[in-house]
Amino acid sequence: MRKPIIAGNWKMNKLAAEGARFLMDIREKVPEEGRVETVVCAPFIHLPFLSEAARDFPVSIGAQNMHHEESGAFTGEVSPAMLSDLLISHVIIGHSERRQYFNETDETVNQKTHAAFEHGITPIVCVGESLEQRENNETMDFVESQVVKGLEGLSEEQVKDVVLAYEPIWAIGTGKTASSEQANEVCTHIRKVIEKTFSKEAAEAVRIQYGGSVKPETIEELLSMSDIDGALVGGASLKEESFLKLVEAGA
Ligand code: PGA
Repeated sequence: MRKPIIAGNWKMNKLAAEGARFLMDIREKVPEEGRVETVVCAPFIHLPFLSEAARDFPVSIGAQNMHHEESGAFTGEVSPAMLSDLLISHVIIGHSERRQYFNETDETVNQKTHAAFEHGITPIVCVGESLEQRENNETMDFVESQVVKGLEGLSEEQVKDVVLAYEPIWAIGTGKTASSEQANEVCTHIRKVIEKTFSKEAAEAVRIQYGGSVKPETIEELLSMSDIDGALVGGASLKEESFLKLVEAGA
């Protein structure tokens, strides 16, 4: 009953013309919205064009980050109001690269998640452990604390609409996918954490993606797992053909 959500994360890739070409190529080929939710998360400069061009097609456009304040003296930042003004429907929050290189914390993730809801934008909240934490058997505790702190203060209804992305840092961009069992084990734990912290209904409704070197060859098995409801995909989302294969696997 949870609709799969396949989201591409272009990261800092593609010039404006390349992004436009990508959308033009895929927009008539993506499956209907009823079966799978398709999201392209692009750098800010692409958003005005992509949002307009995707309007009549079942492709949602997302941002990769945003500030939590409405407006003000925050040089270089983009506000949630600016995104919703462009009809941007999703935003990635707390990606491990943001946490690692731009000092984002569970607290800023929480502020941004609240701000996304205030502006009608669906947050894709990223969590995931480092290799060292996995080797030290800290994965479950660490991910649990990221989920609890990141979602603190949300209502049960809001939690049902959150998308969580479990992305083990050691699997991102490395070609090392977590096995489907490893990925599912953590996603099951996340769902239990949501049940404990919010409610059984919220836990059943919330969608949890896996991310980390997902490819067309691995997506089907990942999606067949009990608690994995989609994927957040970097590298394999950059080529039209492989992105379409990922989306079709979800449909
Ligand atoms: P990857 O990136 O698919 O290239 O590993 C995933 C992500 O960082 O969201």
